[in-house]
Amino acid sequence: MYHLTHGFAFQRCISPDCGVTLDIGEVATACPKCGSLLDVVYNREQQGRQTGLPAKLSDFETRWSQRGASRAAFSGVWRCHSLVPFVTEQECVTVGDGQTLLHASAGVGEYVGMDAKRRGTLYLQYEGMNPSGSFKDNGMTAAFTHAKLLGATRAACASTGNTSASLAMYASVTGVAKAVIFIGSGRIAYGKLSQGLDYGAQTIQIDGDFDDAMARVQEVSKKSGIYLVNSVNPFRLEGQKTIMLRVLEALRWKVPDWIVVPGGNLGNSSSFGKAFIELKELGLIDRIPRLAVINAAGADTLYRLYEGQGLRWSGGRVDHAKIDAFYAQMNAEGRHADTIASAIEINRPVNLVKCLRALDAMNGVVRKVTDQEILNAKARVGACGFGCEPASAASVAGVKKLIEEDVIGKDERVVCILTGHQLKDPDATVAYHTRKPEIFAKYEKHGVHETPFGNPPVQVPNDLDAILAAIQRG
Ligand SMILES: *Cc1c(COP(=O)(O)O)cnc(C)c1O
Ligand SMILES: [Zn+2]
Repeated sequence: MYHLTHGFAFQRCISPDCGVTLDIGEVATACPKCGSLLDVVYNREQQGRQTGLPAKLSDFETRWSQRGASRAAFSGVWRCHSLVPFVTEQECVTVGDGQTLLHASAGVGEYVGMDAKRRGTLYLQYEGMNPSGSFKDNGMTAAFTHAKLLGATRAACASTGNTSASLAMYASVTGVAKAVIFIGSGRIAYGKLSQGLDYGAQTIQIDGDFDDAMARVQEVSKKSGIYLVNSVNPFRLEGQKTIMLRVLEALRWKVPDWIVVPGGNLGNSSSFGKAFIELKELGLIDRIPRLAVINAAGADTLYRLYEGQGLRWSGGRVDHAKIDAFYAQMNAEGRHADTIASAIEINRPVNLVKCLRALDAMNGVVRKVTDQEILNAKARVGACGFGCEPASAASVAGVKKLIEEDVIGKDERVVCILTGHQLKDPDATVAYHTRKPEIFAKYEKHGVHETPFGNPPVQVPNDLDAILAAIQRG
């Protein structure tokens, strides 16, 4: 019935003590037996016999030259099909996702303290160049493909903005399923909200924050059978693995020293870990880069648990009592996530345990950065390149911190994932550069007082000589 690759692709509980498997055609966001997260896994031997295994990394590059002949080859996600083979590639639903750039930035490298003379290099992976303006499209193309094959007519998500923008875009462009998006009150950047509205998605705004919206959408999808595309959806993470493939491709298949990524729901960091574990198992790489996940200081659950309390993957036997106690205390203190980096304003990251696995496989570290550090880094990314939204700049601020701490070497090769486009959150950019009191007030409340890289407009009378003089001074 389905064109899913039954047989060698299946879903499996991530807990090694459980290991329940589900058919690839089943919809589940948690293990039915123990409640753990699910993975999409492949029997590689069988895959080798049925559709083939990648022999070497450069084969992925060759596929790009076939983009005229095949829809899959045109997508930066599906041209890595042999790494995400849960459907046949003819079935993929794509809008040209994943055609993104890696850019070596000398300017941002200097800002974070790289030593260019010793070949230290900072690379920026611009996932904001995806069709809906964030990395979420990498995952949405995979989830939407799964939804289509199951015959779903509606797909839903709770979102801090970019997942809903992505879902809404896939719904409007492909017509495969209708989009229903859940948002909290007041905490969504207008660039993102405007996308969902414009793409015609049904938008349900509830009185609560992201964590509340997330809890509701899971209930709703369980009750009504609406297909859920939040990052508890294991298929989404499959698509996001290919970001790492494209990073390697841009580095001429040389493994970098570090991958640095902002952490919100921790789907991206989890998928990067899975990508490298699989590439190593397939014998396509001999070394795994280190991972740094960067939290905002106002939404630092992972940082507290991993760095503060020593929570670890422990071979899959994660200390859940520690996590439960942490959340109980968070509730008792009435603590809510609070940062201007709205895409990572999340205190209950749904992929926490998978992220622990990624940190384990990639010898990872976790840091937190303030909103002030985030906005300064964002201004440097803008002034030295294509720009990004606040959450994305947490990665750059994190590298700066880790170089100061001597954890990252000044001579290393470091890749920051810029997760979202600059135009997603123009308020943050304009507030920083102009310090206009009516918009800057919100940022001051979040501890942003300095704007050392501010580039405000110059006020000049409407007079030619005055204008010329102002340009000379600039
Ligand atoms: C979703 C998002 C994040 C957080 O990614 P997770 O996978 O949830 O950790 C970071 N930055 C941007 C721009 C996002 O849209
Ligand atoms: Zn289980």
